[in-house]
Amino acid sequence: MASPALLMHVVASAYSVAEKAATIVRNVMAAGDLGIVDKTGANDLQTKADRLVQMSICASLAQKFPKVTIIGEEELSTDEVTEELIEDGHCEEILKKTCPAQYAGIKEEELVIWVDPLDGTKEYTEGLLDHVTVLIGIAYGGKAIAGVINQPYYNYEAGAGAVLGRTIWGVLGIGAFGFQLTEAPAGKHIIVTTRSHSSTLVNDCISALNPDSVIRIGGAGNKIIQLIEGKASAYVFASPGCKKWDTCAPEAILRAVGGKITDIHGNSFQYNKEVKHMNSAGVLATLRNYDYYASRIPNTVKQSLVP
Ligand code: AMP
Ligand code: MG
Ligand code: MG
Repeated sequence: MASPALLMHVVASAYSVAEKAATIVRNVMAAGDLGIVDKTGANDLQTKADRLVQMSICASLAQKFPKVTIIGEEELSTDEVTEELIEDGHCEEILKKTCPAQYAGIKEEELVIWVDPLDGTKEYTEGLLDHVTVLIGIAYGGKAIAGVINQPYYNYEAGAGAVLGRTIWGVLGIGAFGFQLTEAPAGKHIIVTTRSHSSTLVNDCISALNPDSVIRIGGAGNKIIQLIEGKASAYVFASPGCKKWDTCAPEAILRAVGGKITDIHGNSFQYNKEVKHMNSAGVLATLRNYDYYASRIPNTVKQSLVP
């Protein structure tokens, strides 16, 4: 058998790197000193976990794949990365999967990896621990083609016997794994949206969709999990604020199981290294029935959000 394609090596390594990241996220919380810093304001925070995890993910992947472009959320000083932050392992199961033919010849310099070391920082600081995810998205030709989402506190309310944390991964053309794909209740419109970055526009857009219920939770990764596990039928966020590192891994996993994600206008996201980081025109994502929601976004909302 031919040796696994580079893409599969990158995904298999990202899987182990994300598990190491989850351990760091839990250790920082357990140690009790979050070292919170405001970035652009009180709703845009960075903790010691965001910093250490980004160093760990970026240094670990750069060491193995030196020609890949890696773009992380946090701006860090170029401190020496200590050896204990480096993860060298990989997931054997992923290497056993066959790489889709269209990705088999990808070279390192053609990949861009978007890293959100800790998505849902605001919720992390407030103890809403299962909202937190670690996101590693892999893009090729400007498209999100593979991703890893680690949820470090999955099961944390289930009690002592439960296994804490999980890793979800996916590649377009292979599928997504590490969770049970579940359909949302038929005929119900359940919208999942932000809890800490709301605005009049965000709420007006949701009202116009006339939902049966609205789930307000933190994290872009966490919201995509609600879609693929059948808890919500659409992720609607009519606001700037979400960045490419928030959507790259979630997009790859959602699309790998047949879902769709765009901005509020219906434009797909681009992930080449030169792209603007901000998703200025918001997010609309569904596992099914994308057109139902897209066709009901009011023009007034669209006019307020310039891509
Ligand atoms: P949320 O749904 O509020 O958890 O947001 C999803 C992702 O987008 C998180 O990484 C947030 O930090 C980011 N985000 C959304 N809105 C804003 C904003 N107004 N300022 C900073 N970050 C934001
Ligand atoms: Mg984020
Ligand atoms: Mg983050």
